Amino acid sequence: MELAHLQRLMEDTYGERDRARGVAAAVAWLAEEVGELAQAARKGGPHERTHEIGDVLAWVATLANLLGVDLEEAAARYAHGCPKCGAVPCRC
Ligand SMILES: [Zn+2]
Repeated sequence: MELAHLQRLMEDTYGERDRARGVAAAVAWLAEEVGELAQAARKGGPHERTHEIGDVLAWVATLANLLGVDLEEAAARYAHGCPKCGAVPCRC
């Protein structure tokens, strides 16, 4: 799935509810999901890790929607490798 598609899907699926709850709530949910991902990375199996990465991605897309950020544009920061040195792999 393309990032733009994911972002649009999150908007269509949860946009209205997310706007009602606000940015602070979305940040809190994202932080909670990052915590769950940290736990899955440490002691989870492949299924749990995939599940938690998906949840974090979804909340990042939601937050991007609430903040008016284009996810594709944000990802483009890394489109040509390391944003600092411009190399792939990074030579910093
Ligand atoms: Zn670098």
